[in-house]
Amino acid sequence: MKIVTSKTCWEYRHDAHPESPERVKLVYEYLSDKSFSFLEPKPCTETDLLTVHTKLMVDKVKTGNYADLDIPIIPRIYDYALLSAGGALLTANEAVRGNVSFCLTRPPGHHATRSHFGGFCYFNNIAIAVKSLLKEGKGKIAILDIDCHHGNGTQSIFQGKEDVLFVSLHQSPLYPGSGLESVKNCINLPLPAGTQEKDYLLKLEEALIKIKDFKPAIIAVSAGFDTYKADPLTDILLDTFTYTKIASMIKELNLPRFALLEGGYSADLPECVYRFLLGFE
Ligand SMILES: [Zn+2]
Repeated sequence: MKIVTSKTCWEYRHDAHPESPERVKLVYEYLSDKSFSFLEPKPCTETDLLTVHTKLMVDKVKTGNYADLDIPIIPRIYDYALLSAGGALLTANEAVRGNVSFCLTRPPGHHATRSHFGGFCYFNNIAIAVKSLLKEGKGKIAILDIDCHHGNGTQSIFQGKEDVLFVSLHQSPLYPGSGLESVKNCINLPLPAGTQEKDYLLKLEEALIKIKDFKPAIIAVSAGFDTYKADPLTDILLDTFTYTKIASMIKELNLPRFALLEGGYSADLPECVYRFLLGFE
C-alpha cells in the first residue's frame, strides 16, 4: 500500500472553512503511527490540467481572478491544486504498477467540471488521473464515487464516454443537487438522509455489479468520508468499521485500484481513512 501525500497540502487555510489543513495533517500522523509508507508527489503540468479543463478556467485559478462562495480566494492555490492533481497522477501510476494506492492530498476535486469549480474543488483530480490512464491505453476505467455528495464534476467530464463508467452513491437531497438519475455511462444511486450501513452496503453491491459488468481494467475511487455518522455536513450514518467493508467489497473485484481523498469533515476522519485502507489492499 502506497500513500501519496505532501506536507505542502497543510500550508493553506481559509478562516474556519471545513476543508481545513488539519484534515490531511491528522490523517497523515495517524497513518504514520501505523507504519504506512508514503510517496511525495510532484505538481502536475498545465498540459495535464488542459486534458480536462478549459484554458479559461485554468487561468482563473492561476491568476486568482475568480469569485465563488464555496471557493475562497487563497494565495498560491494554483500551486496547491497542481500538487493535489499531481498526487492523483502518481497514485494512478502506482496502481498500474501493481501497488494499491491512496492519495491523501487537498484540495479535493470531484465537484470541478470542465469549466467551473465549486464545493471546495479547483481541479478535478480523479478526472485528470483517469484521462492520463486512458491516454496511455490502459483500457476501460470505472470510477466509483463514494463521497456523500454527488460527483457532478466528474460525471459531466465523462458523460457519454464509452471507455469510462461513473458510478456514484450519494445522499439526496444534498449539495450540489444533481445525480438523481442515471444517464448513459453515469450510474447514480442516491440515498436518503439517515441511511445506515445495511442499506448502504446493499446499494454498493448494486454499484459493484454494474462495474463488474463493464469489465474495466482499473477502478478509481473518489473516496469521501463524509458518509460517516458524525460528519458535520451530511446525514448518512456509516460507522468507521463500515469503511473496511466498503473497501473489501471493492477489493473483491480483483482489479488494479486506487483511491483519492475527496470530502470528510469529522474529527474521526483519520480512523475512517485507516479503516478503509485496511480493507482496500
Ligand atoms: Zn463530500
